Amino acid sequence: MKTYCECHGHIFMNGADYREGMAAHKNGPDLSLIRAHLAACRDSGITYFRDGGDALGVSLAARELAAEYGIRYVTPAFAIHRKGRYGGIVGYEYETLSEYRQLLARARREGADFIKLMFSGILYFDTYSHLSCPPLPGEEIHALVDIAHGEGFAVMAHVNGPEALRAALEAGTDSIEHGYFMDEEDLPLLSEGRTVWVPTMAAIAPFAGRPGCSAEVVAETLRRQGELLRRAAALGALIATGSDSGAVGVPHGAGIHTEEALLTNALGEDAPAVLARGNRALLARFPGGK
Ligand SMILES: [Zn+2]
Repeated sequence: MKTYCECHGHIFMNGADYREGMAAHKNGPDLSLIRAHLAACRDSGITYFRDGGDALGVSLAARELAAEYGIRYVTPAFAIHRKGRYGGIVGYEYETLSEYRQLLARARREGADFIKLMFSGILYFDTYSHLSCPPLPGEEIHALVDIAHGEGFAVMAHVNGPEALRAALEAGTDSIEHGYFMDEEDLPLLSEGRTVWVPTMAAIAPFAGRPGCSAEVVAETLRRQGELLRRAAALGALIATGSDSGAVGVPHGAGIHTEEALLTNALGEDAPAVLARGNRALLARFPGGK
């Protein structure tokens, strides 16, 4: 059986309805639901799962069970965002760098394998490149990454938009998640640095049929992402497979098959070699087992 690396998923969500997904764990992680999601991953050939975090302890509980399903599981425990910005559904907020350091200490206490940071908003599909909130300033992105690295943590960062992406790449972020609307001029920064790009195309495709979303904007967003990925791959950039499974329209297990198909469509015949190299680099950076 072919095996897969799910380099970006959220085991606490159910792929259909995020409120319902969160409600299921509100009195503590629902272990039977977690087991059902892990079984779906195993049955789809997933042997590595990197969680993007949650504020309910679900990914930490999943890590305890994952070995039974033959899955190497890594988690940041929760994601970290700046107060007033996107990220409340997956983690906790800081207002000052001293509060941020406290969250790093909490992540360490809870057994985080790495740190997950939120640098920008999510995509809206009413108009092209519309993001839900402004990005963090470059200096703040540098400070957050430097402090986490200083504490010995690798950094997984949710980031979209050219300014935040440039800052994330310059700061040496270990992996950039989504990475939509990257400036083409920054592709060498990506390929010459150590950052792994996890483009999560499977999470974008399902928006096409939703209210308030333009199918043309969704198609253009995916087309442009595919074009940049192809150019990045030609420059030798590291690209890894992650579907954002658990997000609405992205079922656990099946999501990674969709992601591989979308990436293969974008990268062409080089896709298997490019993705194998990217996944190897990501696993080396986020090995878990702390
Ligand atoms: Zn995510």
